[in-house]
Amino acid sequence: MPSLSYLRSSWKNYSIVKATAYSFVLTFLLLFLVHVSIIASRVATLHSYTEGKHSGIQEVVFQVNKGLKATQIGQNEPCSDADLEFLRELKRTYFFIGDLGRISGNRIICTVLNGTLATPVTLPPIHTKTSGGIEYRNSQDILFYSEKKKPTITYKNAVLFLSPAYLIDAKHGYIGIHGFGGVTYIDSNPRYVINYFGGILPDELDHFLGSVNSLSDLLPLPNRVKNETLCNSELEVCMTAIYQRIGLFGLSDKVLSTVAASAIILGIGLGFIVEYFRVGPRAFLRDLKKQIRHDTIYPVYQPQVNIATQEVVGVESLARWHDSIQGHVSPEVFIQAAEDFKLIDTLTQKLIVKVFHDLHELMESNSSFKVSVNISADLLTSHTFVDFLNQLISQYRFERNQVVLEVTERSVSNNSQMSEFSRKLKEQGYLVSIDDFGTGVSNLSWLSMLEPNEIKVDKLFTHSIETQTVNNITLNGIFGMLEHLDVRVVFEGIETQEQLSYILKKIPTAIGQGWLFAKPQKIEELKRFLDPQHGQRLESEAIVSAV
Ligand code: C2E
Ligand code: CA
Ligand code: CA
Repeated sequence: MPSLSYLRSSWKNYSIVKATAYSFVLTFLLLFLVHVSIIASRVATLHSYTEGKHSGIQEVVFQVNKGLKATQIGQNEPCSDADLEFLRELKRTYFFIGDLGRISGNRIICTVLNGTLATPVTLPPIHTKTSGGIEYRNSQDILFYSEKKKPTITYKNAVLFLSPAYLIDAKHGYIGIHGFGGVTYIDSNPRYVINYFGGILPDELDHFLGSVNSLSDLLPLPNRVKNETLCNSELEVCMTAIYQRIGLFGLSDKVLSTVAASAIILGIGLGFIVEYFRVGPRAFLRDLKKQIRHDTIYPVYQPQVNIATQEVVGVESLARWHDSIQGHVSPEVFIQAAEDFKLIDTLTQKLIVKVFHDLHELMESNSSFKVSVNISADLLTSHTFVDFLNQLISQYRFERNQVVLEVTERSVSNNSQMSEFSRKLKEQGYLVSIDDFGTGVSNLSWLSMLEPNEIKVDKLFTHSIETQTVNNITLNGIFGMLEHLDVRVVFEGIETQEQLSYILKKIPTAIGQGWLFAKPQKIEELKRFLDPQHGQRLESEAIVSAV
């Protein structure tokens, strides 16, 4: 069962402040997305809305033209009963004609709905005349229909008013599709507006018609509009449909607050998830893979000394990872993760390449100088590992027995295989060491299974020296046993003189490793440590080459 200690470790980097910042940004982004998608879908609707309204106005203008032209066919005396009957028939034929009448001079003298006028009404001046001779007149604030402005349209001696059936849409406040509106107008200069609809007011016309669709309409700024214009050049009529209160601005307060609340909740959730992906366990794993790929995990070396003579007899290589986000990551953490995710073999082999490269001169010049590398049980039982080692070592001139493979049983592995591979490696000349000896994971059964060349007593026991703990009682048992075994014995974690003296008394041939002698150090420091003069030489060489 993996300890998953890297899970705990990676959570340490989780920043609530950053998660909150991400939440803010994401909330705004979500709102913006909603805004843009509403606009996108509405622009599609605007298109069909424009087409629908355009076919409406074409039909109206068509009927106006037809109706007015037809007024000239009759042979009746204008405003006579027969003439009014004739006009009534036309009004009935053309649905969008509200009223028809006759003019004389510049006055209306009769209409179908009003009969002959006692007092003829003066017509407003002509505003726009189409090429077909239809006159659209200026003031739309007309007499009989005073409750609303209506276009007054004349042709020769006939006058026409539009039916409310068409104009009803113009009533202010009437909104067919929320946020949509527009105008229909005669397409000659200057524009003559026949109808406003969808809550568009005449004084807003310039703003709407003057606006040009652009990408900046997508920005969540008020008073943006989108519009679309369609014209029929034959009928000389145009319409511009307008989508105002676009995106979020078109939502009702209730819907808007629901959308905002959802965006905030989702934004906060996502913000915290983003931070999780940035520094959480997944990021940790991603980083670890990257570090392994880019070779940035490097070895440091901790000297091992003959405790009787204080002579350095070798080093243990220990992996180090310094990460830009996480800082120093403990090997206990990343080695465990590498094992859990089957990255350890690659990592170890890359490290060994570096270790041999770093140490080969030292080892070649002193055949008793050893390097210990930590090997997972998995790698020990890998079929290719021996070949890898042999191949790599063949590039150098040191001996295989200068390489100590330290094994700890972290991951469950096949025991019979372990002993087989341990034997094989020893036959090839390598030394095998049981790491963390005495702890639960490396115990007596391992001794018979691996038949190691070396035993490393765990620092837990070294630290128990001269204390009254269970470990101390076990330690004495271990001492008793080690006296009778013909193996190299290494005590790790020696920190005090008392610990050293005690071990020296019990096993004078033991090898010691610990802060009392030296901490793990980079290769340059190690070289200085082993041979201060050599170290200085190295430094001056570095200075020379830097110069
Ligand atoms: P380990 O193999 O038992 O290594 C000894 C650990 O004790 C090292 O910790 C070392 O820095 C630390 N240590 C040395 N002297 C003293 C001392 O006087 N007092 C105390 N308290 N500690 C001391 P480190 O470097 O943190 O490594 C931890 C473990 O990570 C290692 O335990 C080893 O199991 C694993 N590890 C490190 N590098 C590698 C590697 O390259 N491959 C594999 N498979 N495991 C590695
Ligand atoms: Ca070790
Ligand atoms: Ca240990």
